[in-house]
Amino acid sequence: MPTAIAREFDNATAIAADMVRRYAVQGPRYTSYPTALNFSEAFSDGDYVRFLDDARNSPSPLSLYVHIPFCRSLCYYCACNKIITKDPRASRRYLDHLNRELQLLSRHVGVSRRVSQLHLGGGTPNYLDKAEMTELVHQLASHFNLDDSDDREFSIELDPRCVDEDYLALLKGLGFNRVSFGVQDTNPDVQQAINRVQSEDMIAELVSLARRFKFRSVSADLIYGLPLQTEESFKATLDALIAMSPDRIAIYHYAHMPQRFKWQKSMDRYPMPDSEEKLKIFALASQRLQAAGYLHIGMDHFVKPDDELAIYQQQGRLQRNFQGYSTCHSPDVLGMGVSAISSLGRCYAQNEKDLEAYYAEIDAGRLPVARGLELSAEDMLRRYVIMQLACNLKLDFKALYGRYQVSFREKFAEALPSLEEFHNSGVLLLSDEGIRITEAGRAVLRNVCMLFDERLSLHRGAYSKTL
Ligand code: SF4
Repeated sequence: MPTAIAREFDNATAIAADMVRRYAVQGPRYTSYPTALNFSEAFSDGDYVRFLDDARNSPSPLSLYVHIPFCRSLCYYCACNKIITKDPRASRRYLDHLNRELQLLSRHVGVSRRVSQLHLGGGTPNYLDKAEMTELVHQLASHFNLDDSDDREFSIELDPRCVDEDYLALLKGLGFNRVSFGVQDTNPDVQQAINRVQSEDMIAELVSLARRFKFRSVSADLIYGLPLQTEESFKATLDALIAMSPDRIAIYHYAHMPQRFKWQKSMDRYPMPDSEEKLKIFALASQRLQAAGYLHIGMDHFVKPDDELAIYQQQGRLQRNFQGYSTCHSPDVLGMGVSAISSLGRCYAQNEKDLEAYYAEIDAGRLPVARGLELSAEDMLRRYVIMQLACNLKLDFKALYGRYQVSFREKFAEALPSLEEFHNSGVLLLSDEGIRITEAGRAVLRNVCMLFDERLSLHRGAYSKTL
């Protein structure tokens, strides 16, 4: 193990207990600021159209997100917006409406803006069969200016249990160049407990096939904090993943919230790691993956050194959106499908979360916007501060002044005592020049961001625990 990493790891482990005691509170994940709980129903499809029309001739490229909500079975830890069904007619009806939504949207977007990023998420995007997936990409290509250069990032989340060699070959042929497999944990007992059984061999085979088809990037998602997980068991999962050698590994924190997601109760009969154990598991993951040559990006991503996310973080250009960390090719993200969220200039807009309500809006010829938010100047400034910390792990006071003409110490005077406390406990370095998050501080990055969230007190009880 490299000495510097070992020292950081020992340091992180040593302060784990102290961090849990102080910082295990409820708070947002900051995939947006303000967070989705602040979106208002007063924001209508008319408001969204105004923003779309204003952005029509913007020179910057676009990012599209398409949500496919269906899954064939329920994973007990799930907190996504999904519909469990095995009915093949469900996807047909959905696709018909999705096609109409993207036609409605494209009238306002036009074809001058190049779409350099496309992401299919869910649910399970590969719930669509091969003909449906082909149809969807054909519709997107017919109505938007899809980039065909090597620089494009066209990605899809895949459930390994329902993808095979033919499906991967089709995705490559349709222009996808990034795939991401939901692994979560390779331990069979953990898989039983979460109701997501998928063999390690099958996942390894898919990763190897994805390489053979020359996808530019292959990612795997893990989750820590699941029932029956221990440091020892997670070590085996990490070793299995390291052997598969995906380009990116994301390790998400599971927060048990059965009061909000009642199916999570199914896991209550199993022991679950507490906050302190979870922090140790995460520290172990960070140490092992860095020792294996991965770089730690933002809160929870690990990438190979030549990965674009690593390069963008070094350059201070990393972004965070509803799909996780992203390069800033396309600051405007247009969401399509039930519950999808768009981020466009100074606004967020979210589609109807209920499937029938989503269908009804489209049948009435309207964009299915249910809620959203127009950001104030104050929101924009705070979003900049929070995203700098969450993505680039630092805030440069001079850059903040250059952008918003505010002195950090004057504007955020109330946060200074808490920042001093974070500084003294090794979470960050506070200087006259700015803030820099330390290696140990990544685990409580959300807590640091919370200092700059002026809307936090309105919804605090609805968020998951930060640790
Ligand atoms: S496949 Fe994903 S979205 Fe579907 S139930 Fe499992 S975790 Fe939730």
